[in-house]
Amino acid sequence: MTIRIAIVGYGKIARTEHVPAITDHADFELVGIVSPHDAHDARDACVPVFSSLADMLAALPDGVDAAAICTPPQLRHALASEAIDARLAVLLEKPPAVTLGELERLGAQARAAGTALFAAWHSQFAPAVVPAAAQLAGERLARLALVWREDVRRWHPGQDWIWEADGLGVLDTGLNALSILTAILPEPLVVEDAELVIPAGRQAPIAARLRFAGQGRAAQFDWREQREEVRSIRATTQSGRVIALEHGGARLVVDGIEHPLGPLAEYAAIYARFAALVRAGAIALDSEPMRLLADAMRIARRVTTGGDS
Ligand code: NAP
Repeated sequence: MTIRIAIVGYGKIARTEHVPAITDHADFELVGIVSPHDAHDARDACVPVFSSLADMLAALPDGVDAAAICTPPQLRHALASEAIDARLAVLLEKPPAVTLGELERLGAQARAAGTALFAAWHSQFAPAVVPAAAQLAGERLARLALVWREDVRRWHPGQDWIWEADGLGVLDTGLNALSILTAILPEPLVVEDAELVIPAGRQAPIAARLRFAGQGRAAQFDWREQREEVRSIRATTQSGRVIALEHGGARLVVDGIEHPLGPLAEYAAIYARFAALVRAGAIALDSEPMRLLADAMRIARRVTTGGDS
């Protein structure tokens, strides 16, 4: 049976990743877009466009099986809750909610309704993640170095929501890195120290540093990189092995030797997993990246910078 899916929030990630992944997956049919402010612009999707989820549900009763919530995170919980109430299976773009409490509530709601719910951390579907986790299984971590440097202007042009208190700033992409860590490491991390660099007049950080419990375990995130972007994780084990993920998990180097991988196709893998969850009526909510983030925000020192946002 085809899964008839609607996209709620037709912005950058919906256009560049969700639409192609849905179109290419034989199990899905895109049946609608919800786009409140730019319905005209959304006509390129060649499916009906609605200005609210409620309008779509009224116009297509029994015509939608699932929804992908691709709005800014601040809106995710209310829209996902409305979709679950309508008995839709729900895919949550990352971050799946603003707070852990919201995520737990959505999980409880989906369990009670018997609907599928999926927190889609796209970086966990990078090709290096599963083989890196296999390499690290049974090992003990000695050191960890995570460096994530990007140009915010490239990935979030003109997006003001990203600088709100609940917009996360650089930790929006930082969560991608943390979601890889929680998927590959053989032990949970504990945040011991954190610093957030916040542009004057903004609420969210443009750079951040975290230190984890244990010797030599640190992460740095920076959105001011205008030359070569870096998305790198290097885990050294107590047995002396070095597992390095480069390019956000598109490349894996084990003890200095390149490990062959398939192509980067995160969203194709996300929709394959979502199809399986929908068929099983199952829930997959990994809250661990948000636990690390919440702990970091709880203890972080805030430093103001002149502003580069
Ligand atoms: P975006 O370009 O700002 O798109 C968000 C869209 O949601 C906009 O079209 C916005 O419409 C729409 N929207 C706002 N309120 C809505 C509502 N009530 N109902 C339906 N749609 C609504 O943001 P984005 O970059 O696509 O990011 C969206 C999410 O994807 C974020 O959580 C982000 O972390 C995640 N993500 C982004 C990237 C990336 O590279 N940008 C990568 C992976 C994941 P208006 O603009 O008209 O308000």
